[in-house]
Amino acid sequence: MRIVHQLSAEQIAYGLEMPRQLARGQYQACCPAHTDKSPSLSITEKAGKVLLYCFSGCTQTEVIEALVSRGLWPKKSKKAKVHTLVDRLEMESFCAAHVYNLRKQIPTSTKHQRLYRQYQRVLCSPFTPGELIEMNLFCMLYQADTRKGKTSTPDDDEKFLAFSRVVYDKGVPYDC
Ligand SMILES: [Zn+2]
Repeated sequence: MRIVHQLSAEQIAYGLEMPRQLARGQYQACCPAHTDKSPSLSITEKAGKVLLYCFSGCTQTEVIEALVSRGLWPKKSKKAKVHTLVDRLEMESFCAAHVYNLRKQIPTSTKHQRLYRQYQRVLCSPFTPGELIEMNLFCMLYQADTRKGKTSTPDDDEKFLAFSRVVYDKGVPYDC
């Protein structure tokens, strides 16, 4: 994981015009998000977090954007959307149904076609080690419960079928 370096309230304040300290961890400076003649941005550090407030009404997003452009705020790295395993299962059954419809020449909407392509891309992406561990654990518990004669829910049965294909075949269960 990439750790983004966050400047302190003081470092941010002194990177702006007309900075001044009000109290410990509390600063004021000209707001970078609007033409500010007197300091209207409050920059406060609380529990290691920097809080921003513009008294002229700029939103936090506007202030952060302006700080980012001045190099006073870390640029957010674009995080890949995290799909849960249940999301993946849902996508998988959607894709299976879509393929079934295509085979049977049942007309599908453009929306479904778009979703299919989108889901297919997600399903083709490899599982993370964390996901594999989660699936492995689920399968172990499921099997232990079955051995003890515990009844399982249809949801768990479906999950087990999908997960076990990944866990025991050590492969990706999708045709990519
Ligand atoms: Zn402002």
